[in-house]
Amino acid sequence: MSDTYATNLERAQRYLERFRNNTTGHYINGEFTLGNGGKEYDNITPTDNTAIGKIMAGSTDDMDAACKAAEDAFEAWAATPGAERKRLLNKFADRLVERADEIALVESMDCGQAVRFMKKAAERGAANFRFFADKAPEAQDGLALQQQEHTNFTVRKAIGPVGIITPWNTPFMLSTWKIAPALAAGCTVVHKPAELTPLSAYILAEIADEVLPKGVWNMVNGFGESVGKRMTEHPAIKAVALVGESATGSHVMRQGADSLKRMHFELGGKNPVIVFDDADFERALDAVVFMIYSLNGQRCTSSSRLLIQSGIRDKFLAALEQRVRNLKVGHPLDPDTEVGPLVHTEHYNKVSSYFDIAKEDGANVAVGGKRITEASGALDPAGNYLEPTLFTEATSRMRIAQEEIFGPVLTTITFDTEEEAIAIANDTDYGLSGYIWTENTGRAMRMAKHVEAGMLWVNSENNRNLPSPFGGIKMSGIGRDGGDWSFDFYMETKNVCIAHGTHRVPQLGKG
Ligand code: NAD
Repeated sequence: MSDTYATNLERAQRYLERFRNNTTGHYINGEFTLGNGGKEYDNITPTDNTAIGKIMAGSTDDMDAACKAAEDAFEAWAATPGAERKRLLNKFADRLVERADEIALVESMDCGQAVRFMKKAAERGAANFRFFADKAPEAQDGLALQQQEHTNFTVRKAIGPVGIITPWNTPFMLSTWKIAPALAAGCTVVHKPAELTPLSAYILAEIADEVLPKGVWNMVNGFGESVGKRMTEHPAIKAVALVGESATGSHVMRQGADSLKRMHFELGGKNPVIVFDDADFERALDAVVFMIYSLNGQRCTSSSRLLIQSGIRDKFLAALEQRVRNLKVGHPLDPDTEVGPLVHTEHYNKVSSYFDIAKEDGANVAVGGKRITEASGALDPAGNYLEPTLFTEATSRMRIAQEEIFGPVLTTITFDTEEEAIAIANDTDYGLSGYIWTENTGRAMRMAKHVEAGMLWVNSENNRNLPSPFGGIKMSGIGRDGGDWSFDFYMETKNVCIAHGTHRVPQLGKG
């Protein structure tokens, strides 16, 4: 049977039934539990703002129990041979693939991402697990560093139980991305999913329950300022990996200061895509549209600022306007939908507020700029739908060019020279990613050197390579994910220095 809106909806309703009928709680020390002293809240789908179940927001006691479980399980998990961790994590990946349909449909309903982008989520999550599973046996490996009369060698050891805090934009993918390397390194985990999108985290906990020893994976639902805060302060937790807003990063850093937590932050962005006159026009156009309007623009690496060179500006913007007008906004379970509803009314209001801000600042609203208030097809206007929006004639200091809007909204700025493009690209507090479109290799190299970002793509959209480092500079983050960078974060390095027996030991007190 082919996937139509109707068949997707029918299967999604089936998968969601158990969440509708039972309060979704936590997973602590190998037990699914509603915990102690928590409070229920409604989990709302952005498709029409109705409840699709109740979630138990945990108490600080629940978080303490989860941290204790992770602490108790740590020694045995860290001592489990790498080959065995590899086997278990590959088994985890197999289960993800088996539940791919459920993960895609539940995630779409929970966070509003179009199912066309979620279809491959489980496969990508499984790839994250397999990549780090394969690296588990070598995680402890170090270096041999020679001196004249000494040999140093380094070994790595898992840092301890770690806390992982994830956001609502692509909750499933980001959770697998953070948790897989932690487990491969030998750390036990306490996961605090985003309060707005808890369902895929529960499915992950169910798979953990089948595959992993108890206490290795713990998950506590609830709010950042209560259970999230408690996790970041808890003495048993040795490191915290947060994906979220820059302001949250500052809070978490303060909260973890007393216990000197190691921190890894993947935060916000206001990423430039810089298109020069000599760019491959069609490929650049495809990439510009994809990197802001896919995933509802709720993507940390979205290219939310288009810097367009004056020579092709008019032609490029005319083609771009046409493409933005053609985008299909709809119910996330409709396979034709390109842009779905925004995750929550509060976020919807925030994104919509930039329509007036743009006008007040003197930019032009070339396309969109309105909420969708009429039903069409499966789109229910009670959901958080808005028109994909294109701002033109913006300047770098406008709020629409400075602030992370985190929706299907693109701000366009014109430039003349390479130097001007660099200055505009760097004129922001953020520094996560950047995209450069030019056929001139020398220029690409110069831009790559001067644009301030943790990651740059030349003539490409966001293509992820798991062994490569992922992360931001400035207010976009601290630390890197991917390959061995992940192990560096989740592990301690010990240096052992061995003398060859030939050097002179300093002699004191000999008169
Ligand atoms: P958020 O910062 O509001 O929340 C993220 C998580 O932090 C949630 O689980 C939340 O409950 C928790 N939290 C909030 N306050 C806390 C506190 N005081 N202590 C501990 N935990 C706390 O972010 P969001 O709105 O859910 O997600 C969107 C943001 O995430 C955007 O800024 C986006 O750019 C960023 N993001 C970054 C990356 C990246 O790789 N750089 C990837 C995805 C999303």
